Amino acid sequence: MLIVFEIEAFKRMIKVFSAQDFIEVAFWRNYLEQQNITCQIKNEYLGSAMGEVPPIECWPELWIINDNDLALAIKFLASDPLGEQQLVQWECLGCGEISDGQFTDCWNCGKQKNNEE
Ligand SMILES: [Zn+2]
Repeated sequence: MLIVFEIEAFKRMIKVFSAQDFIEVAFWRNYLEQQNITCQIKNEYLGSAMGEVPPIECWPELWIINDNDLALAIKFLASDPLGEQQLVQWECLGCGEISDGQFTDCWNCGKQKNNEE
């Protein structure tokens, strides 16, 4: 009994994220594991089993296995890597073509973004 207690105390899991959309939770699970933070999803199947929008206590939850990772996990969760990827499209002032946000020059005519000459 004592040994079991010590293992559980050592490996204290902490819930770091929850969302109604399982895909969002799965994204963060994959992202954190890429940063060598071991984590686990709880309530993974409850929502789909119910066949309707689950109440918040049934939302998929992301738990980190090792509480030593907590500070790092929170830092990554706050960093919003999705937001960095979804840069706003912009319209070229030279030719009117639309370029994706990661480009600094127009793909069509080569004019620089935000060049308002
Ligand atoms: Zn252009």
